[in-house]
Amino acid sequence: MRITRLETFGNEFLAFVRVTTEDGQTGWGQISTYNADITAQVFHRQIAPHALGTDATAFADTLALIGEREHKYPGSYLRRAMAGLDTALWDWNGKRLGQPVVALLGGTPGPLRAYASSMKRDITPKDEAARFCALRDEKGFTAFKWRVGRECGRDLDEWPGRTEEVIPTVARALGDGIDKLVDANSCYSPARAIEVGKRLQDEGIGHFEEPCPYWEYDQTAEVRAALELDVTGGEQDCEFATWAHMIARQSVDILQPDVMYMGGITRTLEVARMGAAAGLPITPHAANLSLVTMCTMHLLKALPNAGRYLELSIEGPDYYPWQEGLFLGDPYRVEDGHVTVLDAPGWGVEINPDWLARAQWRESVLE
Ligand SMILES: [Mg+2]
Repeated sequence: MRITRLETFGNEFLAFVRVTTEDGQTGWGQISTYNADITAQVFHRQIAPHALGTDATAFADTLALIGEREHKYPGSYLRRAMAGLDTALWDWNGKRLGQPVVALLGGTPGPLRAYASSMKRDITPKDEAARFCALRDEKGFTAFKWRVGRECGRDLDEWPGRTEEVIPTVARALGDGIDKLVDANSCYSPARAIEVGKRLQDEGIGHFEEPCPYWEYDQTAEVRAALELDVTGGEQDCEFATWAHMIARQSVDILQPDVMYMGGITRTLEVARMGAAAGLPITPHAANLSLVTMCTMHLLKALPNAGRYLELSIEGPDYYPWQEGLFLGDPYRVEDGHVTVLDAPGWGVEINPDWLARAQWRESVLE
């Protein structure tokens, strides 16, 4: 069944992809968020020409071929654009077979435990603790992640003393029986990361994400070796050779690929297999409520080495104004700390037609 048309609907922040095959059937996916207008251009220039006319039912090799034909352009933008093709074709395949993507991946629909993920550093420790406790009590979350240090911060803090305060303030407010995670977003030198890591351990925090600049795999390995808690990372990485190095170097205890940064589900499955072979769990990065979180939900319900929970952003319109009104209904509704993967075909979500009508549209068609 040949691919005959590839469309993008988007803006600067996000773009959806619609694939159409010669029988008229369609599927929906998404390219990665941010600079999505640039990525859409990469999609039509460097992805669509190779994909049009290929078989939509078996596309793993098409993805590999695109990488080979565009071999002078490895890295982020090509993979971000490729994610649009991959995720649209998984949806197309699910709709063709009348099955949710999770079933195509060998899993089952149903509830999935989520951790409430804060994106904010400009929030005071007291306010962070207060909103976490409200979410724990109102939505039943049993796991939370908050921020320490400054993003790529060269050992600096968002303001002096914030990290020393936010660690115990939030951890103690949440209390026992809650999984506690923090993210340093590439802030620290190894010495400072180890110092902060010991404070985390003292407060019962079990997950220390991206302690050192993410490209410094030896630094991260040094931190991991010095601490008892789980050192985690990988969200920025999109090439298999990098993952192989990270695993061989024993940099992290948990791998965190982002489905969209990786180039889609197919390539993320390969990282999951690499992790399984090394005995490592997968707790993907999914930092906003666009399609990335739904794709990650289907993946986690199918992976044999899935981590303990889904990352679920708790940020609303003040932080992510562009994620409002993307879907009909409420696909990320939380009950007892769980989201639900539905039994509907494909991704099981309906993109808001009003949003699509306002988006910039472009198509590539089979000549
Ligand atoms: Mg992170």
